[in-house]
Amino acid sequence: MTVRVGVIGVGVIGREHVLRLARRTVGAQVVAVADADPDRARSVAAEVGAQVYASGAELIDAVDAVVVASWGPTHEEYVVAAIAAGKPVFCEKPLAPTREACDRILDAEVAGGRRLVTVGFMRRHDPQYRAMKEVVVGGAIGAPLLMHAAHRNVSVPSWFTSEMIVTDTAVHDIDVARWMFDEEIVAVTVLTGRVSRKAQPGFRDPQLLILETASGVLVDVEASVNAGFAYDIRGEVVGEDGTVELSESAGAVVKRAGAAHTRVPTEWIERFTPAFDAEFRAWIDVIATGDTHATVGPTAWDGYAATACCEAGLAALRSGTRERVELRPEPELYCTTAHQIPTEGTPR
Ligand code: NAP
Repeated sequence: MTVRVGVIGVGVIGREHVLRLARRTVGAQVVAVADADPDRARSVAAEVGAQVYASGAELIDAVDAVVVASWGPTHEEYVVAAIAAGKPVFCEKPLAPTREACDRILDAEVAGGRRLVTVGFMRRHDPQYRAMKEVVVGGAIGAPLLMHAAHRNVSVPSWFTSEMIVTDTAVHDIDVARWMFDEEIVAVTVLTGRVSRKAQPGFRDPQLLILETASGVLVDVEASVNAGFAYDIRGEVVGEDGTVELSESAGAVVKRAGAAHTRVPTEWIERFTPAFDAEFRAWIDVIATGDTHATVGPTAWDGYAATACCEAGLAALRSGTRERVELRPEPELYCTTAHQIPTEGTPR
């Protein structure tokens, strides 16, 4: 079965997803595109032979499945419309920027009784993170105690704010922590100190987030968005009997003249292309099977919990103290492992 996909929002990442689905994802065809900027919509649609729709609502009617890659505050409207139409919907992070908006999405999905929403926390599909989780779950390093993470961007545009370091940058590490240890984060602290001279005036960069999981695992996340030298993503889990860390590079290490050299990506798109490709392969596969539920990987619940942690993170950034994460009870619809990402060779 070919899944006829429509993409709403074809800016930086939306266009990447259009090309990925059209050119590299078996079983997918991009038939429809919509964007607030009609010229951009026309130009991206022309690259793949898709039709341009004037509104997201019309696009949702015309396709089998929907990708939402417009800006965060617009996600709720499209995700809820896709749920109402009974269509699988892949929503870029954040599911929505406020807990109330995420609540409304959860309520709509629960009322329909089918899991249709997949959230774009692509690190769960990254081969290195997956290898790391396999070690943690397999027990080789014993009970996990701590995780150290770093998320370093080369630079950010002038409109990027201190708050966005929590909601747009560290949000990926928040999702990784919940997924890595299969438990909720119960408290967030955000520390700021000496500010990088490369940061805009008044901008609090870098930030150090301390996440506490329900069982007491502590996760420290260095989030720096003016690192300058590379897009550097790091992670290490410390267990009672050993440690496991992300490998330095997916490429080769060259040793010569008394030094070792390896490539560090400069852009997020380079670092996470294998993860983005894998997340869309998995999404199209699960839709093509025609199951009642059409989600794989992060669900609407994961999107809700990440936004709740970000809200606690924003409160912590303001207060300088530890802030608790308050979650509503997890609806029955999500209390299952059926949506987890299949590993190689897992029969469906
Ligand atoms: P972007 O370049 O600004 O693209 C967003 C596009 O959506 C723009 O063309 C924008 O048009 C359009 N748009 C805005 N409001 C719309 C609406 N109501 N209906 C339809 N289209 C609308 O942003 P981006 O960097 O691609 O980010 C898009 C989303 O992806 C964000 O939620 C972001 O957090 C997420 N993202 C995720 C990752 C990841 O690692 N998973 C990486 C990057 C981005 P105008 O420019 O005219 O407003």
